[in-house]
Amino acid sequence: MKIVINDTELEVIKGDITKCTVDAIVNAANNGLLGGGGVDGAIHRAGGPEIMEECKKIRERTGGCPTGEAVITTAGNLPAKYVIHTVGPVWKGGAYQERELLRNCYINSLKLAEEHFVKTIAFPNISTGVYRFPKHEAAQIALETVKECIQNQFIRSIQSILFVCFDDENYHIYKTMIR
Ligand code: ADP
Repeated sequence: MKIVINDTELEVIKGDITKCTVDAIVNAANNGLLGGGGVDGAIHRAGGPEIMEECKKIRERTGGCPTGEAVITTAGNLPAKYVIHTVGPVWKGGAYQERELLRNCYINSLKLAEEHFVKTIAFPNISTGVYRFPKHEAAQIALETVKECIQNQFIRSIQSILFVCFDDENYHIYKTMIR
């Protein structure tokens, strides 16, 4: 399922983000940039130790990555050039700025991608795994935020944005919602 807004393609696919041949893949990381389960674990496993070495350096320099923000590293052995690590909010019922923080993940990842002249980028469904953000609302925020970024013309080098859904539920939600 694909749409085009102001010459930027938005596409929903089902699959494994570590297999995506794009300039940058986004990781749903944690504040310590320490690796973990889910998509984070899959990226470090498939990309090899180089990614973690850079994460460690960032952690030593800055203490990690605050929720809603993003940092960039090599993609090691992955087909992508970069991994953009962003930290989604843990869902705590909705009264802890979870929506705004999730929105920031998409904005700050796109900003960082633009700074590195990324043309193609792939996002996972940030926060919808162990961080338990309700999937429907997370998809709505992801799609709306990305569309706003395109419409506000802050997207210049990016030509294609992929939403990579790993589970059937997210894939179904995104397919129905993208238009
Ligand atoms: P979070 O801690 O942000 O919730 P998770 O990694 O637990 O991060 O889950 C985020 C999303 O990533 C979930 O929807 C999960 O199904 C998905 N996911 C897990 N592995 C992969 C993968 N290899 N490629 C793409 N998405 C993945």
